[in-house]
Amino acid sequence: MFEFKIIKKASEKSSKKVAKNNLSKANISLARTGIFKTPHGIIHTPVFMPVGTKANVKTLTPEELKDLNADIILSNTYHLMLRPGEKTVKKMGGLHKWMNWNRPILTDSGGFQVFSLEQEKGLAKDSQKKAGVKITEEGVEFKSHIDGQKHFITPEKAMQIQHDLGADIIMTFDECADANSSKKYFEEAMNRTHNWLERCKKEHDKLEKKKTSQKKHTNNLTPPPQALFGIVQGGVYPDLRKKSAEFIANLDLPGNAIGGLSVGEDRNTMLKMLDEVTKILPENKPRYLMGVGTPIDLLEGVDRGIDMFDCVLPTRLARHSAFWTHKGLIHIKNQKFKEDPSPLEKNCTCYTCKNFSKSYIQHLMKENEILGHRLMTIHNLHFLLNLMTQIREAINKGKFKEFKKKFLSKWPKTTKNSNI
Ligand SMILES: [Zn+2]
Repeated sequence: MFEFKIIKKASEKSSKKVAKNNLSKANISLARTGIFKTPHGIIHTPVFMPVGTKANVKTLTPEELKDLNADIILSNTYHLMLRPGEKTVKKMGGLHKWMNWNRPILTDSGGFQVFSLEQEKGLAKDSQKKAGVKITEEGVEFKSHIDGQKHFITPEKAMQIQHDLGADIIMTFDECADANSSKKYFEEAMNRTHNWLERCKKEHDKLEKKKTSQKKHTNNLTPPPQALFGIVQGGVYPDLRKKSAEFIANLDLPGNAIGGLSVGEDRNTMLKMLDEVTKILPENKPRYLMGVGTPIDLLEGVDRGIDMFDCVLPTRLARHSAFWTHKGLIHIKNQKFKEDPSPLEKNCTCYTCKNFSKSYIQHLMKENEILGHRLMTIHNLHFLLNLMTQIREAINKGKFKEFKKKFLSKWPKTTKNSNI
């Protein structure tokens, strides 16, 4: 289980050779297609994972997600742990059964939300003394954003919760340092993340062993195995990123993630960090770039050997009346669309574009109708998932670089890691 098989590499040259050259200058690519086997089915990589924060991808049914070709979805540990509680989900048969999704699921560890929700509220002025968040080597104490109640989460607890939820892929508990922190603090947070990963692995192995021994002693249906992924941290410092990637690579986990990027730094900085990290993370394991999902970032990430992405953008933008086309992001509430009979994008094969006009969708969005949110979400998710299908096809045909160039030639130029 959790075997990763590379199908085709965009460049047959070894990654060591690629690493010696500057990727952006040379016409070399680390892009590859592959399959990752999980107990709930195969994931075709590179893959985009729609985010279902509270165990649902907002406004869509599992059947609609399958029609959109979603191989895997992501759910958030932090939200489910607070409400309804992981024990409830476990009692109801685990996440897959509860939400009626029989394809793979990935859960994050909860760490990102613990830190970022405080930052969003403007409470975190100083990474070391965040209001409501107290970090020690043991774990993190934080206040729930729902009722202000105090919680204490440790690496062991993060594993226990994710085992109760039952996703196929689970993430290590990591500290996402505030982007404004000093280098010294980033290093401290990175070292803590490494220590926490060792503790997560120990706890995860223990819980997996328990499952196997239960299987031997009883004939009850035991939950399927889960894969633990490590997370590279280190902010925007190449030396820290390198150190972190080396540490994670040595643990020989089924997959490796890169966290703490796309949090305010510009795109070139993010890509530089990826160049540092992907040449160290093992080639024979999937690489997951967390929380990144603009079309341009997907192309640049795939080019650098990233296999998995997730992001709330397609669903969030949809609810804010914005949709993607091959020429960039467009706002449906623009007055010029009031009597426009054409679909959101000409030649788009999604359900929304095959059946509805911009005029009608504008009306729905202005009236804040749920159908409007649904139609916009379908189009945006189709746009990204279809882009990934095209990327996989281009890699398999040996034409990834040409595909990327063509796509970017129409896309608006920006170096910002903005929301388009
Ligand atoms: Zn469409």
